[in-house]
Amino acid sequence: MYPDLVGKIAVVTGASKGIGREIAIRFGLERMKVVINYNHGADEVKSVVEEIQNAGGEAIAVQADVAEEADVIRLIDTAIKNFGGLDVLVNNAGIQTTSPSHELTLDEWHKVMNVNLTGAFIGCREALKYMMKFGVKGSIINMSSVHQKIPKPFHVHYASSKGGLRLLTESLALEYAPHGIRINTIAPGAIATPMNEQILSDPMQRKDVLSLIPMNEIGEAHHVSSAAAWLSSNEASYITGITLFIDGGMTLYPTFL
Ligand code: NAD
Repeated sequence: MYPDLVGKIAVVTGASKGIGREIAIRFGLERMKVVINYNHGADEVKSVVEEIQNAGGEAIAVQADVAEEADVIRLIDTAIKNFGGLDVLVNNAGIQTTSPSHELTLDEWHKVMNVNLTGAFIGCREALKYMMKFGVKGSIINMSSVHQKIPKPFHVHYASSKGGLRLLTESLALEYAPHGIRINTIAPGAIATPMNEQILSDPMQRKDVLSLIPMNEIGEAHHVSSAAAWLSSNEASYITGITLFIDGGMTLYPTFL
């Protein structure tokens, strides 16, 4: 636990399930005030809010599509109006689809880019606007993927969005470091969430995934949420512009083993 996080105000996007849900709950346990964003799934998000409130934390849920500029502006405003500020933003919302690249439609390309990259940019911009105006030395975390580094055939739009997120993070980190605002990337490997439930529940495909992980273990959402809490805390106060891979060694060229 990180005592300096108590009372801090956080927005987590795409927090109705998976990694975002786990981060929101961890922030709640840290006694932060959490704005939980969701696009669809009001019932799922209700249980996240309740879990935080039952643990003595404060949380509100806000429906917003991160691909829509007006929605993201309203999301950040909600934190400021309801909780009185903004200290931490986690741009976690993300989607991926599969297609041979020569058949990928522009609609599909834009859909993934708009959520994974443009959505994160709008979130960063709005958070930075507030942090700059009020001199908040905040922390922003962008949820990337090992596919910011490892090419991903049939997912060119997903890999491009995550590669873009790395340089978005690094460029903003450099620009805002003089103001004490830290911006970092977390890049998970294979984490068991609804996003890859289908693949991981098939024994053959699970075996294939495991063969890419030197630690021979599928990651859990709590592996990512503990990193998000640490990166948000003063324990990481001198860290900006990094990518923290949470991947059981997946980016270490496992075939060389
Ligand atoms: P998930 O599908 O379980 O959850 C994604 C969340 O994003 C959901 O709450 C969904 O409602 C939300 N979302 C989707 N589109 C949205 C939009 N337009 N506006 C607001 N919210 C939206 O996925 P996950 O596995 O928890 O992934 C979370 C993040 O981690 C994503 O950015 C993903 O790319 C990244 N990631 C996941 C893995 C993994 O193995 N699970 C690996 C690498 C990176």
